[in-house]
Formats: sequence, C-alpha cells, structure tokens
Amino acid sequence: FRVQVVPVWTEQRRLLGAAMVIDDVTEVRRLEQMRTEFVANVSHELRTPLTSIKGFVETLLDGALDDAKVAKRFLSIINEETQRLQRLIEDLLQLSRIESQAGRAVEDQAFLEPEMQRVRNLLEPIALEKRITLQVDVQKNLPQLPLSPDNLKQVLVNLTENAIKYTPEGGRVHVRAFRQDQNVTLEVQDTGIGIPEESLPRIFERFYRVDKARSREMGGTGLGLAIVKHIIERSGGRVTVHSQVGAGSIFTVSFPALQE
Ligand code: ADP
Repeated sequence: FRVQVVPVWTEQRRLLGAAMVIDDVTEVRRLEQMRTEFVANVSHELRTPLTSIKGFVETLLDGALDDAKVAKRFLSIINEETQRLQRLIEDLLQLSRIESQAGRAVEDQAFLEPEMQRVRNLLEPIALEKRITLQVDVQKNLPQLPLSPDNLKQVLVNLTENAIKYTPEGGRVHVRAFRQDQNVTLEVQDTGIGIPEESLPRIFERFYRVDKARSREMGGTGLGLAIVKHIIERSGGRVTVHSQVGAGSIFTVSFPALQE
C-alpha cells in the first residue's frame, strides 16, 4: 500500500484540512507487470515465425532457389509461418476488441440453436478427418443469451475446435445446451488427452499452453481460451473446466437466462 497525505483547499484557496490517500500499489504493480509480460509474450510469439521466415528467405536467395524441390519445401514452410502470424494477429485484435468494449450492449442477444448448427457445419469436416464423432444437442425453446451472435459463435468455435484438436483419432466430442434452473448451460465435452490438474487454474491465461510444441503443431495461438473467458465474463456468464488426463475434458459455460 502507498499512503499519502494531501492538503484539501476550498475554492477560495483556504486550507480546509488534509486527506489521506491509500493506494493499493500492489494491485497497480500487478497490472503493470501483467502488461509488461503480455508485451514480452506477444513479441516473442511474433518473433518466432518471423525469424523462421527470414531464415528460409535468405537461404532461398543464397542459392536454394535453384533447386526447385528444395525451394518448394522452403516456400511451404514460409507459407505456414505466415499463416501462423496471421492467426496470431487476428486473435490479438479480437482480444483487444473485446477488452475495449465497455461491457455488454443491452441489445446483444443470441439464440443458441442457429449458432450451434453453424458451428457444427463449420467443424464437422475437421472432426470427420480425424474420425471424431461430433454430436450436437440443443434443448428446444431455450431463451436467448445475453451476447451478440458473433461472440456466441466465437465461443462455440474456440471450445469445439479445441475439443477436436486435443482429442485423438476415433474420439468423441459432445456439444450440448440445456436449461438448468434459472441458467442456460452449454457444455463441450471431449474424450481427449485431458489437462493436468496443476495446469487447470492457468488454462484461461493468454499464451498459456500445457504443451507448447503440441499447440504449435496444431496451429494454436494460445489465445483461444482467453478470448472465450473474456467474452463470457463480459456478458455476465461463467466458464469452468473439469478434466482428467487421458480421459477427457469438459468445458461448461453458464448464463443467467434473459427475462423473456
Ligand atoms: P491453443 O491455441 O494453444 O489451443 P487455447 O487458449 O485455446 O490455446 O488453449 C490453451 C491450452 O489449453 C492449450 O494449449 C491446451 O494445452 C489446453 N487445452 C484447451 N482445450 C483443451 C482440451 N479440450 N483438451 C485438452 N487440452 C486443452
């Protein structure tokens, strides 16, 4: 804490008294440190693909271009790294857009069913490629949720995409939405690799990954769950996770239902 005593003046510049200001500097410091860390992380994440692109371009210019086969292989790596940069920048922009929204706009409302169907159509081909069964169940007549359709779709895509990514071939991903008391609950359950217990509290942090190499290989940016948490909490909902290594994970999002 930082304690300061400051004089208090009247409009006629007469001393009225003194006030004591107590600042929670630990909180200020913590936020500052978080920001510094974030910038360092972003720089690192941007630098890694850039260094690789630069290296391959230089090697091509130094003569590798003459060997068509080698050149093609290098160009496809450059292409992949460029896509990684693009995804990263898109996710960063998305995160900053959500953070700059003051809160939920009152008019933001979305029905779950159409968004869930959209996400199913989008991700079913990826699931099929891995022979993963993607099952989607939505209870009838669910009330609308207090967030925009775009944000709801983003949450569904990020959670379902992760479930598919971190589930081995032949597994199962089950997305369901139902009413529970006064809440609407959305669950994304997989039969995947699971998350170690010590990682669970950190899983929603930006750039946190259980296995960096694996996430990279899968094209992850480490921002997907941070985006989910931001969207959900801004809209008055909650997101939690239960997981068991080797058995699977279940992400649960719950919202107080809007008054109809
Ligand atoms: P990424 O882009 O790396 O997938 P996310 O923010 O979406 O980043 O997730 C953070 C980390 O949480 C992942 O790297 C992975 O280790 C873990 N994770 C997320 N979803 C799952 C899941 N369904 N099963 C196992 N691990 C998961």
